[in-house]
Amino acid sequence: QHRLGGTCVIRGCVPKKFMVYASEFASYAKVAEGYGWSPSQSTFDWLKFLEAKDREIARLSGIYVTNLSNAGAEIVHARATLKDAHTVEIVGKGVVTADKILVATGGRPWSPEDLPGVEHTITSEEAFHLPELPKSIMIVGGGYIAVEFAGIFAGLGVDTTLVYRGANILRGFDDDVRAHLTDELKKRGIKIILGCEHTSIEKTDAGLVNHMSSGHDVVTDQVMFATGRKPHTKGLGLEAAGVKLAQSGAVMVDKFSRTNVDNIWAVGDVTDRINLTPVAIREGAAFSQTEFYNNPTSFDHDMVASAVFSQPPVGSVGQSEAEARHEHGKVDIYLSRFRPMKTTFYGGDDRCLIKLVVAQDSQKIVGCHVVGPDAPEIIQMAAIALKMCVTKAQWDST
Ligand code: NDP
Repeated sequence: QHRLGGTCVIRGCVPKKFMVYASEFASYAKVAEGYGWSPSQSTFDWLKFLEAKDREIARLSGIYVTNLSNAGAEIVHARATLKDAHTVEIVGKGVVTADKILVATGGRPWSPEDLPGVEHTITSEEAFHLPELPKSIMIVGGGYIAVEFAGIFAGLGVDTTLVYRGANILRGFDDDVRAHLTDELKKRGIKIILGCEHTSIEKTDAGLVNHMSSGHDVVTDQVMFATGRKPHTKGLGLEAAGVKLAQSGAVMVDKFSRTNVDNIWAVGDVTDRINLTPVAIREGAAFSQTEFYNNPTSFDHDMVASAVFSQPPVGSVGQSEAEARHEHGKVDIYLSRFRPMKTTFYGGDDRCLIKLVVAQDSQKIVGCHVVGPDAPEIIQMAAIALKMCVTKAQWDST
């Protein structure tokens, strides 16, 4: 319908990472001084960055077009809706029929529609195209997108407040990781308000007035909701094809990604299993093996590593301490907090965390959690070891 590449390439992971990179340079300058470089004065040009970012996204999207064309696929740029289990209407271009149909329409950001004043706010979709950087922003939510964008805006010099309704950010992650990251985000100047929600948002000449459940008002230039994403199934005609949807709108599938309709499959965020690009890719590959190579394959959703591109970033695989205690009873915990060598040299205050959760009886490592530079890269290798059921003794001997 729009451009090839999906959420990840067009309005997700990829542009987000460019923004993370852009926002890190101010802190590098401080580090450089500690290493003997003379102080430098530089300014950030948001529009110049956006232009470069959009150019790169267009290049990446173009690669998808080339690869698909080289593979012999016909690409139709139009909106599609299912008419029945084998018929797809391509809006404005007629009707096609197919033996097999794969739905991979992803998700869309969701914000609480009934909150008075929500129409004045943005989501991550708009954050990629703001005509100018705000002086101040309030980010709502405590998940991946909220903490990632809080780091981005704070790094770019925007006065940033993160407000989360729960007791601590990143629900579902290990509690030590959550506490550690909160401290590190605060050190970087991000204001974090916990246990608090909006009652309304009012647009005034002074900016957006955030009326909070605590009774306080906070005025900011911009308010961004990062309160989750919902599967994108509305208006797709799935009902006409008889495909069962969950209450959330997600397409319900079995372990082979097959829906209740024999010839229709779904992969990726539209199925709301683990909403990560590499997972969607493996689900797609498994579908291909099963249906076109006579090799029934299902993707194993256990032990999937994930990364939060906060500043500092988080890498995590396997169980949190709480989950492991629940499942295994007794666990051994190995936890280390330290200042990285690069930081101690100039007297910086950043701290890393690494935590291993070990099931006591089997001595298998069931969880590994890292907060610190390059944690997202490090965790991928750790994930291989954990998936292979490494024991603590084997880990130590390597
Ligand atoms: P998440 O589901 O991670 O977090 C949503 C947050 O919004 C939670 O903190 C939730 O609170 C809060 N929330 C939900 N409803 C409300 C409400 N009505 N009022 C106030 N707060 C509310 O969603 P994100 O939007 O951060 O990310 C969406 C998806 O995108 C995730 O599934 C993630 O997997 C994926 N993603 C992955 C990234 C990565 O791999 N690095 C990066 C970005 C996105 P509570 O905890 O209390 O429920």
